[in-house]
Amino acid sequence: MRYALPGKVYLVGAGPGSAKLLTLQALEALQEADLVLHDDLVSDDVLARIPARTAVLSVGKRCAQKKASQEEIHRRMIGAARSGKTVVRLKGGDPLIFGRTKDEILALRQAGIAFEIIPGITAASAAAAEAQIPLTERSSAEKLVFVSNHPSKEKVRRDWHTSVTQDATLVFYMPGSDFAALTAELAARGLGERTPCLLVSNAARPDQKMIRTVLGELGSVPRVAAPSLLIVGSAVAEARAEEWFAARRNAQEASTPETEELSLGSQVTPNPVKK
Ligand code: SAH
Repeated sequence: MRYALPGKVYLVGAGPGSAKLLTLQALEALQEADLVLHDDLVSDDVLARIPARTAVLSVGKRCAQKKASQEEIHRRMIGAARSGKTVVRLKGGDPLIFGRTKDEILALRQAGIAFEIIPGITAASAAAAEAQIPLTERSSAEKLVFVSNHPSKEKVRRDWHTSVTQDATLVFYMPGSDFAALTAELAARGLGERTPCLLVSNAARPDQKMIRTVLGELGSVPRVAAPSLLIVGSAVAEARAEEWFAARRNAQEASTPETEELSLGSQVTPNPVKK
C-alpha cells in the first residue's frame, strides 16, 4: 500500500536573468523539484539549471496566447503537492515585488500546503549593479520608490505622485514605451528637465542595453526590448551608459590582460569560518 506524502511548494525568485544571480537556495530548490511552474520572465539560462527529469511547465503568456488562469496555477501547485511532490513556482526577479504572489500565498494557506518563499534579486538591483550606481545616497537620494507603471493600473499611477520628490530615486517597472505622459506627470510634480534618467533593457542578460538621458529628452529615446525598467533621479547621474559598455567590449577584444599579484602580507589569514 502506498501512502501519499505531504509535498511542499517553493515560491522562488529566479532573479533578473543570469543564472549566476540565483541564490544557492533557489538553485537547490530547482534541483530537488518534481515540478516547476514558471513565468515567461524566467530566462532560458535559469531554466537550463533544472534537471532533465523534472517536469517543467510555462504558465506565463507567450505571444498573445492565453496564459494559464490563476486558478489553474493554484490547482496544479496544490494537486502536485498533495500527491507528495516538491513544486517550485518560479518567478522573475523577486517573487514579492510586482510578482502577483499574494493570491498564491492565500491559496496555499487555505489548502494547508506547506510552502516557503525564496527571495530573488529584483530587476532594479540588477540594473543598478550593471550601471554601477547606488539607488540611494546619503545626501541626495534618501528615498527609493518602486512603481508599477502598468497601463491598466490607473489608480496606482495616481497614487505614486505623492512619492515624487527631488530626493527620491524612482524605479518604474513595466514602464511601457510611450514616455510622453510619464514625463509630463513627473514635470508637473516639480522634477526638472535635466533630471537624470536611465532606461535599462534586459538587465543581467546577454542582450542588455542601457540608455542614459534626462527627463526633458525621455520622450525621444528609441524603443528598447522588453523587459525594461526606467530609473529616474539624481542617483542615476553617474550611471554607465551604452557607450561605456561598447568601449569596454572593444577594449577587451583589443587587449591582453595583465596580472599583478597583490601583496597583503600579514593581513591575510586563512578563512576563519571554513573548517
Ligand atoms: N518580480 C520581478 C518584477 C516583475 S514585473 C522583479 O522583482 O524583478 C515585470 C517587470 O520587471 C518588467 O516589465 C520590467 O520592468 C522588470 N524586469 C524584470 N526583469 C528585468 C530585466 N532583466 N531587465 C529589465 N527589467 C526587468
